[in-house]
Amino acid sequence: MSRAARAVISHRALQHNLDCVRRAAPGSRVLAVIKANAYGHGIVRVARALANADAFAVASIDEAMVLREAGVKQPIVLLEGVFEMQELQLAVEHGLQLVVHSEEQLRLLESSQLPQAADIWLKIDTGMHRLGFSPDVAYAVWRRLKACDAVAETIRLMTHFANSDQRDDPTTDLQLDRFEAALTHCPGERSAANSGAVLAWPRAHMDWVRPGIMLYGASPFCDAGAAEFDLRPAMSLHSRLIAVQRYRRGEPIGYGGTWRCPEDMSVGVAAIGYGDGYPRHAPPGTPVLLNNKSVPLIGRVSMDMICLDLRTQPGAAPGDAVMLWGDGLPVEDIAASAGTIAYELLCRVTARVPMEDKFD
Ligand SMILES: *Cc1c(COP(=O)(O)O)cnc(C)c1O
Repeated sequence: MSRAARAVISHRALQHNLDCVRRAAPGSRVLAVIKANAYGHGIVRVARALANADAFAVASIDEAMVLREAGVKQPIVLLEGVFEMQELQLAVEHGLQLVVHSEEQLRLLESSQLPQAADIWLKIDTGMHRLGFSPDVAYAVWRRLKACDAVAETIRLMTHFANSDQRDDPTTDLQLDRFEAALTHCPGERSAANSGAVLAWPRAHMDWVRPGIMLYGASPFCDAGAAEFDLRPAMSLHSRLIAVQRYRRGEPIGYGGTWRCPEDMSVGVAAIGYGDGYPRHAPPGTPVLLNNKSVPLIGRVSMDMICLDLRTQPGAAPGDAVMLWGDGLPVEDIAASAGTIAYELLCRVTARVPMEDKFD
């Protein structure tokens, strides 16, 4: 028998979540963000499931080439751009669009001789302070791009939000003010909204929205769940019980013996652990669905296994179904319990976990 741990990806949920994006931002085109192997869901699978997105965004040329090699024809944007002449040539050859965020990238374009002009997204740093040109040089940079033979006629303009995961944070409006002010003299399509801004800042929608996490059915907000926005989890992580034991009151469970049975009780062992991407920092009490009912995790998470408190399901037996996150158990809740965010848990499911497609 093969290992029971597996992730199931719902194409229907992915499509439904894209519909939610369209409903939230009806006037905008959708640049679906599928970097980091589509937040762990499988980049080619997600590109196919979201074939009616207007374009895709990835972090690097390697990710884009995986898509092109799989026959994905849609426009693809490299969110970090390119860093060497060879990459620039390859990108243009494969019709990839480039973010330009630094003087080095600008010079690379200015010194290049390309078979065809590159499609450019000029990135302005309006307060995130990670990538992008400062607003006071935006117009000068835009002029240089305009004058550059290697750059196609239409130059698009973008920025990225630092705090849109908090719906009442005024930083997002401030960033939008700076974006608009910096670009008053630069015509061109504009893009600012990640998932948080798609859902909470209509003012940020502009020509292109750039949703990531919401496509996968997780909430971008710290204070609101995905269900509030009708998003459906695209990934569910499953396994099975492989053992059930009875222990006496006071007996320690797992590494370090940090958790002790408060009474005589049954303990279940499920085949999932940090070697699969389940967070090692998930503390005792983290909910796990056993036979569709919540039971608490107990003891420390091991590499291949976790232990479950079976006091509410004393009849549970090896082979019973376990779900770690998915429909009815938001990955955001598991992430919060483990001190991280849904983004990280989704990205971190490891290669040994087989992924299955679900189409209904
Ligand atoms: C990752 C990313 C996004 C998507 O962010 P979400 O919070 O997942 O919606 C959008 N834009 C840029 C530039 C990104 O790097």
